[in-house]
Parts: sequence; C-alpha cells; structure tokens
Amino acid sequence: MAFTLAPLPYAYDALEPYIDTLTMQIHHGKHHQAYVDNLNKAVAGTEHENKTLEQLVDHAGAISPAVRNNGGGHWNHTFFWESLKNHGPSDVINEPGGKLAEAINEAFGSFDAFKEKFAAAGMTRFGSGWAWLIKSKENGKLVITSTPNQDNPLMDVAEVKGTPVLGVDVWEHAYYLKYQNKRADYLAAFWNIVNWDKVAERF
Ligand code: MN
Repeated sequence: MAFTLAPLPYAYDALEPYIDTLTMQIHHGKHHQAYVDNLNKAVAGTEHENKTLEQLVDHAGAISPAVRNNGGGHWNHTFFWESLKNHGPSDVINEPGGKLAEAINEAFGSFDAFKEKFAAAGMTRFGSGWAWLIKSKENGKLVITSTPNQDNPLMDVAEVKGTPVLGVDVWEHAYYLKYQNKRADYLAAFWNIVNWDKVAERF
C-alpha cells in the first residue's frame, strides 16, 4: 500500500490572514506531496514497504535517512494540518479549556507562560525543524521540546520522547512568503488558528 496525501481538512484559504493561501497551497500540494512521493520511493521493494507510517517513524533512526526524513515529513505535516482551524473573527478568544488547560497551567504556570515557552522553542530551533508540546513518555506530563529537520518526538532518535499533542512547523517554507525572516510574527499568529479541541482529544 503506497502512502497517499490526504486533502486538507479545510480550504486552502481557511487560515487567512494568519497563514496565507499561497503558502498553504505550496506547503500542502508541493512540500507535503514531495515527502509522500519520496517516502514511497524510499520503501518501494524493501522490507518496509508494508509497514504503517507509525511503525516506520518509531524505528526511523534504524531504517534510512530517506525514510526518517520523508516518513517524518509525512507524519509531521498530517499532524500539523489537523492541529489548525479557522475560528472566524479575530476577536474570538482561542484558548484550551478543561483538563488540558489545567495540565498546561500545572506544567507551565499559566497559558501565557506556556505560549512564551513554546514560541521560544520554535525561535531557538536553529535552521529547520519543529516545536512540540508532548505528553512525556516517562511520566505523562506536558513538556515542550523541539526537533531538527523532519524528526519528531515519536522517533527512536528523538532527544526528548513522547506523544505529540501540538506541533508547529518552523521551516522557512511554512512562513516565508508572508512573514519573510520574521519567524516570531508567524509564531504569534499561530495561536489564532490552533484547534484546541483536537489538541485536547490527543491529550
Ligand atoms: Mn513544512
């Protein structure tokens, strides 16, 4: 079974003005598509051909750089699209609630402190990569981490391992058309489009 690119769970212009239509078209239709295509090439005719994406990602370090990079790319982007949502007018307050909000407060002191720390993880990831909010593999607590390239915290090679509940792509291709070198502005805009219901479901 070849891997396939699912359509976005919303229209390409749904995340305007925070993420622009052209960025979404290229990011999903070209970048994500390329990860899927290159992953299929990397596993074709190998013992990994019939593995699930989760199985591949779990052993990414032991398989091959092509599977690690493209399998990670496919997993991370699918996860990212599902983490986002258009909440309508910009005055809508977009914050987590319930048990997730309690866990964020417990782990980071407040929602604002969490946002600051998460953005800092994105800002300090040198070059290309991702910032993550994860449930730690050790104790189930919420932890902020970041990974290089298309690695993620599910991978055997990750420095900090756990189950991602939220992630943000800080590759330049995710924001450069609209924000150019201003990664901080992109990360600030990101809070307007987080799908907290989805994050709570994962948590
Ligand atoms: Mn990307």
